[in-house]
Amino acid sequence: MNQGSRTPGLAIVGFGGMGSQHAKTLAGVPDVFHIAGTFDIRDERQQYAAQLGLHPFASYEELLACPDVDVVLIATPNHLHRPLSIQALRAGRHVICEKPVMLNAAELEEVLDVARACGRVFVVHQNRRWDEDFRAVKRVLEENRIGKIFTIESRIMGSQGIPGDWRTRREFGGGMLLDWGIHLTDQMLWMVPGRLSSVYCRLGHVLGGECDDSVKLFLSFENGIEALVEVATWNMEALPRWYVAGMEGALTIRDLWCSQTHFTRLRNTGGAAVRPVDAGKGITKTLAPRDPATLEVGEVPVTPYDVCDFYRNVAAAIRGEAELIVKPEESLRVMRVMDAARRSAELDAVIPFET
Ligand code: NAD
Repeated sequence: MNQGSRTPGLAIVGFGGMGSQHAKTLAGVPDVFHIAGTFDIRDERQQYAAQLGLHPFASYEELLACPDVDVVLIATPNHLHRPLSIQALRAGRHVICEKPVMLNAAELEEVLDVARACGRVFVVHQNRRWDEDFRAVKRVLEENRIGKIFTIESRIMGSQGIPGDWRTRREFGGGMLLDWGIHLTDQMLWMVPGRLSSVYCRLGHVLGGECDDSVKLFLSFENGIEALVEVATWNMEALPRWYVAGMEGALTIRDLWCSQTHFTRLRNTGGAAVRPVDAGKGITKTLAPRDPATLEVGEVPVTPYDVCDFYRNVAAAIRGEAELIVKPEESLRVMRVMDAARRSAELDAVIPFET
């Protein structure tokens, strides 16, 4: 294990879609981690790893016994995150675990206890903290560009249903709350400062499967922000990825590619008196447009981010030179919100939240 100043070795467990995506991304930063090998229970994935020039370990035990492996990256179906993490930590390895880190908060508390006892780093791959659409919204809030915020809506709307694999099965930790839901919740809790006061959630089964294929999660913060996290998988039209409203403006971001972003800021509250306008088969003042002279209209500034900063940060934390960006206590808070969301959906009740 980690001898002197050599680049630490990282092994990927579960070499499916996301495991191989990690290998691709890590190939771009060989100075951060070198890939010591992979392990997957499926032969074809072992063969695929070998074709890529990676070493496929014959078993998880063999991988954990290899002195070149400092870090184990777990990218298996969700129900295996807990046992595989504990085994790796007890073998003295640091662990990067895919989201959802665990199936519930109690599992994560147990794994964090093991990590502490073993003196190893345990971190969740919350890569979507580096998404440009999210960072653009976060920056608007940090720079206080649209005044006191009262609404944030964060949505993912697809039209393909739950991907037809283990994600459709409860026993494997399937469902969209633990899939996209956890990404969007992690982003929201990382971005919005202050305490959460309550959680209300509706889980949908639009296509009739055993796992939730749609999620509406309402998060009420003590600072007055009402946030909505919505995940939908059978919607032939999609609402914008983001809608944020504040006392001095609002923004929308169309999608993860930031193909359209709109930003409207109130210059002043003056302008002509509000007059009714024709609307549909009636008249209304509610929809009367504002005097354009009172508004500044533009685009939300979007800047690129490098997701490899996640790996760089983990490597620095292992060397004891940096704090983790994705902190264990943040991951635990997100898992507690997941637990509260499921309880809320079961009881159809608002669940008070303490942190
Ligand atoms: P996948 O089905 O494509 O891959 C999972 C792989 O794990 C399969 O190849 C399977 O054979 C293997 N596997 C199953 N049991 C194993 C075991 N005991 N030991 C070793 N390998 C085993 O699924 P996926 O889409 O790659 O998802 C894997 C994980 O990555 C999930 O936890 C998922 O939530 C996460 N994920 C994260 C992101 C992200 O953006 N962070 C994106 C996709 C998936």
